[in-house]
Amino acid sequence: MEPLVVLTALVVGVVIAWLGITALRAASGPGPREKPDVEDVEGLEVFLVCRECGTEFRVTRLGELQIPRHCGEPMEVVRRHTGES
Ligand SMILES: [Zn+2]
Repeated sequence: MEPLVVLTALVVGVVIAWLGITALRAASGPGPREKPDVEDVEGLEVFLVCRECGTEFRVTRLGELQIPRHCGEPMEVVRRHTGES
């Protein structure tokens, strides 16, 4: 095999491994949690949106999901990814 091919394969392998570790870290979150049932969504930008009047609530902690009502209708949970990766 050409040395360049081996090098490329190594680089690709490292990138894939790094992506996997990054995904695992993102999924598990930073550090141990006191309440594992509470989903920390601060980095994910979760909003509760009222489709009737357009009111939006920013959600920073997502416990057992109880969708609040607004204008007599259940609010919609909207997730928006922030620009940071
Ligand atoms: Zn409303």
